[in-house]
Amino acid sequence: MSQTIKTLAIVGGGTAGWLSAAIIAAHHKSDQANSLKVILVEASDIPTVGVGEGTWPTMKNTIRRIGIKESDLFRKCFTAFKQGGKFVDWVHGNGDFYYHPFTVPLGYGRLDLAPYVSNIEDFAVEANFQHRICEAGLAPRGLSDNEYSGQCNYAYHFDAGAFAELLKDFSKTNLDVEHIIGTVQHANKLADGNIESIALDQDRTLKADLFIDCTGFSSLLLGKEMAVPFISAEKYLFNDSALALHMPYAEDNNDIASHTIATGQNAGWIWDIGLTHRRGVGHVYASQFLSDDEAEANLHAYLGPAAADISPRKITFKSGHRQQFWKGNCVAVGMSAGFVEPLEATAIMLVEISARYIAENLPPDQNIMRITAKRFNQQMGYRWGRIIDFLKLHYMLSKRPEAYWQAHTEEASIPDSLKEDLQIWGHRGPINTDFDSAIELFPAASYQYVMYGMGFKPDFERQAYLYKEHTQANRIIQQNQKITEQMLRSLPPHRQYIQQWLAT
Ligand SMILES: Cc1cc2nc3c(=O)[nH]c(=O)nc-3n(C[C@H](O)[C@H](O)[C@H](O)COP(=O)(O)OP(=O)(O)OC[C@H]3O[C@@H](n4cnc5c(N)ncnc54)[C@H](O)[C@@H]3O)c2cc1C
Repeated sequence: MSQTIKTLAIVGGGTAGWLSAAIIAAHHKSDQANSLKVILVEASDIPTVGVGEGTWPTMKNTIRRIGIKESDLFRKCFTAFKQGGKFVDWVHGNGDFYYHPFTVPLGYGRLDLAPYVSNIEDFAVEANFQHRICEAGLAPRGLSDNEYSGQCNYAYHFDAGAFAELLKDFSKTNLDVEHIIGTVQHANKLADGNIESIALDQDRTLKADLFIDCTGFSSLLLGKEMAVPFISAEKYLFNDSALALHMPYAEDNNDIASHTIATGQNAGWIWDIGLTHRRGVGHVYASQFLSDDEAEANLHAYLGPAAADISPRKITFKSGHRQQFWKGNCVAVGMSAGFVEPLEATAIMLVEISARYIAENLPPDQNIMRITAKRFNQQMGYRWGRIIDFLKLHYMLSKRPEAYWQAHTEEASIPDSLKEDLQIWGHRGPINTDFDSAIELFPAASYQYVMYGMGFKPDFERQAYLYKEHTQANRIIQQNQKITEQMLRSLPPHRQYIQQWLAT
């Protein structure tokens, strides 16, 4: 095996494959002589999962670093803004709702407003403006704002297939990524267990120094060829099925929600994602609590008669992740590394983070690959643990009576790390120093929005002497009201903004 890493082969042409190719090729300037050669192999007859349309604000920087214009992302991928998540019917199932917005509370990092707000369940409204901007159907910025900037923090909703196509075209045209259509049959291994080459159909063989497995649920290279075990998370997160469909707008000019709407059901939840040309809607559920027919009935009840003739596509998945993510010269990115469920759109964010790590830490030779792999595994192991905890938090605080929701509150279904966090948060709520690792995915603000929105009330009275900054806190809360009113007057409606911006 050559010592220098010169060639990197990515297997899989879904979102994970093309996003990894673009991130790594852009970082390594693969259009220049002597730089890294990036090759992507994808099977023509194995479809991509075809969902995955909600993102996290990290995507702004990712797209910008790759070199794609934001307006191209909107034009080519039917993209709309995502300003956070609206969680309907998660607490009692009686029309209750709260927001997890992407903009942090006012005063964040200076003064925690939680002990001072008048109603902790309305924390997101009292401490931040984005809840009301979303409810009013407004865009996160106006025509005088620049690309990639916003008055409110945002991510995107886009068409998953169109996004992979955009990345493919851009990577091939501008970043010199080589594209091979071929189905990987197996890997040829060296004596040390590393992959020397992959065997493709038509007796073709592809050699590379590092292999990135983006084969989705099949985890062909890391799971099968490198025999890395799968760690199930089903004990904590019960969902294993989804029904997904595309819902046309009744009128071309219908409003587009600028947030993901996640509506709790008797044994799962329904996502509703507004793009410019259609909505992407799907029901995630746990098959041990709900049959496919019942789930389909839920989905049709949610969508009403306009969807009566639309049949959803079923997707099954196993909640969990690989024990390791990088073994020898093989690293898994995307669903080949793991997938727990779509709540909070963590999957594509992990692809961005993983690909960026590989790009920035690509060992110049294979001698130090072992150390890079060890660190990557430590970081990703930590992140998966945090994701499971954060997603579980959404379920375990519910007061819904159905068996599915009750099962989520059982002790044995709650990770120990989350139980410990909740004990601490019971008297002071989440704060920045709970999440001060450089590799955190969700800040304390995210936990605050979800916990307080779900009705969790810390007993701030136990250390009341710590919370004496009422004047300052009230000033910030009033300032938030002013900013909110100002934005409600000045920000344009979401669809109107996209149309006007793209027309300029
Ligand atoms: C119901 C559901 C909803 C989701 N919603 C979201 C969301 O809102 N936000 C989010 O961030 N994520 C979401 N995800 C996850 C997201 O869809 C994926 O993370 C993302 O699409 C990346 O998938 P992938 O590229 O890893 O796999 P895939 O899309 O499955 O792609 C696998 C690729 O590997 C290729 N391949 C497979 N085997 C071979 C072989 N032998 N030889 C050559 N090529 C091969 C296939 O042809 C394909 O190109 C969701 C997932 C599900 C199941």
